[in-house]
Amino acid sequence: MNVADSERMAGLLRQIGYTLTDDADNADLILFNTCCVRATAEDKVFGQIGRFKALKRLKPSLIIGVTGCMAQKEGANLIKRAPHIDFVLGTGQNSEVARVVQSLELERRHVVDISNVSGEIPSEVFPIRNGQVSTFVPIMYGCNNFCTYCIVPYVRGRERSRQPEEIFSEVKQAVAEGFKEITLLGQNVNSYAGGMTFAELLSNVDKISGVERLRFMTSHPKDLSDELIAAIANGQHICEHIHLPVQYGSDKILRRMNRVYTVEKYLRLVEKIRDAVPNVSLTTDLIVGFPGETDEDFSETLNFLRTVKFDAAFTFIYSKRSGTPAATFENQIDDETKHRRLDELMKVQNEISLAKNSALIDSVVEVLVEGESKTDAEIFTGRTRSNKIVLFNHGSEHAGDLVNVKINQAQTWLLKGDIVNS
Ligand code: SF4
Repeated sequence: MNVADSERMAGLLRQIGYTLTDDADNADLILFNTCCVRATAEDKVFGQIGRFKALKRLKPSLIIGVTGCMAQKEGANLIKRAPHIDFVLGTGQNSEVARVVQSLELERRHVVDISNVSGEIPSEVFPIRNGQVSTFVPIMYGCNNFCTYCIVPYVRGRERSRQPEEIFSEVKQAVAEGFKEITLLGQNVNSYAGGMTFAELLSNVDKISGVERLRFMTSHPKDLSDELIAAIANGQHICEHIHLPVQYGSDKILRRMNRVYTVEKYLRLVEKIRDAVPNVSLTTDLIVGFPGETDEDFSETLNFLRTVKFDAAFTFIYSKRSGTPAATFENQIDDETKHRRLDELMKVQNEISLAKNSALIDSVVEVLVEGESKTDAEIFTGRTRSNKIVLFNHGSEHAGDLVNVKINQAQTWLLKGDIVNS
């Protein structure tokens, strides 16, 4: 979501004459679009902001701004801590970035605006998109769920959905720019409420000419409907991959997290999805070290993982966020236990991921070419419809092409293979 927001702010700043640069030392404006979902993200931002204090002293015309969730959470405290910051804009004020920068070009002062966390969604934005093959289109902002560990509803406000026409026109605009893969974004896309259901929205985007692949994230298990499962099963370009964050594998902890489903309900949902979309890949998010987590809860989670067999899981250590209910819960877990459990969880999941990927050896998969791999220009990287990374020796293919690759090697996080004729 932050990547998408940054692209949109870059688009707004382009309208007043700014262009992107990788060279911070020569920039006229440095913008930190921040995350505060975990404490480590915030620490990183403070470290980065500190780095530019000397530069600002050498070059007083430099404008430094902070936007995003940390700006919303900390507001004027950021400027108290780092007075070389010129402006702080909360998540509801992203669309104000160009106006604020222009006013600072004329007159230097500190600007802080975090007044409207559930602010209006800016329309008619022309983002400067990263990459050349895949891009994000936000369909809604905010969250109404208040999971007890999560800061998002406080810093991104209540759910607001964009109108379908605006979404369709942005998808068409992205396709016209050459993007082949669209990911519809929202904190909980399943509760989209822009005058049609999310399933209807997805099916409509699926029909837009030029969309080769269509993805979405993220889905709250409590809201994933039968209608959506049917839309995925019947879609043409809708990829067979669902990221379905479970967060934990025991009912006691799920209740304390306010996730509003049980392990049994989640398992039933998985069964339903796999029945309707047999080749689906399922990924998830998991948190270890939530307050009150016992060895018994943890071993239930390991068993849960072995039962579901996710294709991949993104595992996190619980991070105490002040202002959330869980931060005040008793029985916070010590760091050593958290790390030990994380290692164990990852070990179990990695074995499962490797087994799932190994099962694909000798099969032929459709891969959307993304370009050269980071480490070797001779090797291309791309993704399957199931969102698995594939590395392969390339010929005359280009980023954005769809190719068939025969898998000959599997690792935990990726597959390797050779291009074959269809
Ligand atoms: S649904 Fe997601 S974004 Fe919303 S409160 Fe829960 S974890 Fe946070």
